[in-house]
Amino acid sequence: MTGHHSYTGRFAPSPSGPLHFGSLIAALASFLDARHHHGQWLLRMEDIDEPRCVGGADKLILDTLEAHHLHWDGEVMYQSAEHARYQALTDQFIRQGLAYRCSCTRKMIKEAGGTYPGTCRDKHITGDGTAIRLKMTSPVTRFDDRIMGQVHVTDAHALEDTVLKRRDGLFSYNLVVVADDIHQGVTHIVRGSDLLTTTATHLSLYKLLQARAPAYAHVPVASVSEGRKLSKQNHAAALNNATPSENLAAALNFLGLALPEDGINAPPAEVLQWAVEHWGCDRIPRQREIIVAASESTYHRPFIFCGI
Ligand SMILES: [Zn+2]
Repeated sequence: MTGHHSYTGRFAPSPSGPLHFGSLIAALASFLDARHHHGQWLLRMEDIDEPRCVGGADKLILDTLEAHHLHWDGEVMYQSAEHARYQALTDQFIRQGLAYRCSCTRKMIKEAGGTYPGTCRDKHITGDGTAIRLKMTSPVTRFDDRIMGQVHVTDAHALEDTVLKRRDGLFSYNLVVVADDIHQGVTHIVRGSDLLTTTATHLSLYKLLQARAPAYAHVPVASVSEGRKLSKQNHAAALNNATPSENLAAALNFLGLALPEDGINAPPAEVLQWAVEHWGCDRIPRQREIIVAASESTYHRPFIFCGI
């Protein structure tokens, strides 16, 4: 077990393609925060949604992290090997009356206004081919984020009876991410702000499980235009493993840690060492997204020099 450290962080990519600039930002931010605090940094492949996973993408991700000297601690965890644990947790929720089976279709929920109104809560539905939903009787709506400050979530989707297991048998992201972070003893989560409102759902799960919640820090996501984060869907370029220092410099600049001029040509290990020393949540832009411009090899945020 890895649960006895005062700081345990992690990076949890989904192996649906190679890492791009947006994923480098999340990897780098979580790595730097962990190393700055002398913590360990774990790696987890979020391959629970198997239909979306691409064969060999996990290997590409590991190669890219190695090329950027982002070395993780311990063995890589694969969610696809952990089904029994997720099933046991789902069963436990049902046994405790904290979850229930739901037979509503997507169409029915849409007709009910788009958010799930708890239709099946007291129907005592049994059997397969149904979704399993969490009874969110007292959802968490407020939390403190190390970067964003106090967050108040009003988004109805973050507060509805969240799906733990889908009708097609897939476990939900919300269930597995919390289950794994507890299982791996994760104390600090640093990730993209696209998950800011979802954090309320995660905190509700921690509360129901009577587990200690981690500290959260949400960094801005890189977007190609307003509301469109850089992703495989909008053809984000794979990181070039031959230019790790350049990629790291661009990602650091994005995070508010522009390298001193003479640092840009340093090898990646030196770039990271500098960044670990200079890391601090107060330097990170308190924004949910930053629009980046694509250049030939990478993406850039306009260079901002903060007190270097
Ligand atoms: Zn239902």
